[in-house]
Amino acid sequence: MRSPLIAGNWKMNGSLALVEQFGEAFADANVPPDVSIALMLPFPYLAVAQRALSGTPMAWGGQTLHDQRSGAFTGEVSGSMLVEFGARYVLIGHSERRAMFHEDDAAVLARVSAALDVGLTPVVCVGETLAEREAGRTEDVVLKQVDVVFSGIDAEARERLVIAYEPVWAIGTGKTASPDQAQAIHASIRAHVEQYSVALAAGLHVLYGGSMKAANAAELLAQPDIDGGLIGGASLQVDEFLAICQSAG
Ligand code: 13P
Repeated sequence: MRSPLIAGNWKMNGSLALVEQFGEAFADANVPPDVSIALMLPFPYLAVAQRALSGTPMAWGGQTLHDQRSGAFTGEVSGSMLVEFGARYVLIGHSERRAMFHEDDAAVLARVSAALDVGLTPVVCVGETLAEREAGRTEDVVLKQVDVVFSGIDAEARERLVIAYEPVWAIGTGKTASPDQAQAIHASIRAHVEQYSVALAAGLHVLYGGSMKAANAAELLAQPDIDGGLIGGASLQVDEFLAICQSAG
């Protein structure tokens, strides 16, 4: 019912040459037909992605966007600009954006609305810090982050969201949430979203992110409420990322 989505987040990594390498490798790679694949790229690489990834099974997107369509916002990029480069997705509220670039709940919601306005699929990142987990606050924190977005948009818009659960303590640390730990939160997110609509909850894609790699992807993706992955470090190597895509099929 929910076909998997495997998304790479290059963060501030990679090169033009690496985009080309992915384009060549995925042009005739053996990826399961029911698996959707995307790379969330640094802005300057989107033009090359539009050429090099067209004709591959891979879509692409940005890692953030501004909430306004245009204007005097030096250094920022709008959703319509991402669309001009063929982007289908945009990450919103990644924990690195929340922590380092002061994106609070209001900023996350404004960006989700801006993305939806131009037809992008927002991939909204949620997740608790280690201190929050140790204080037993994981569900509170994560479900509140989910509610901020779902309660701020209309029913039709809710159908277009993807959620990525990324425990902050598992990002870039090599410490993956165990399949059971991740499944428990994914199930809580889905159960919580039922208050908006049971059908919405059943169709909602909830991706897992945090030290996912080829060696642990299959057991995470086998969990009933894990509908794909958001992969950082391991999305920078063609073979590793391809193996994750293949294990989702
Ligand atoms: P890592 O896969 O490098 O832990 O990063 C996860 C992440 O933050 C993806 O958005």
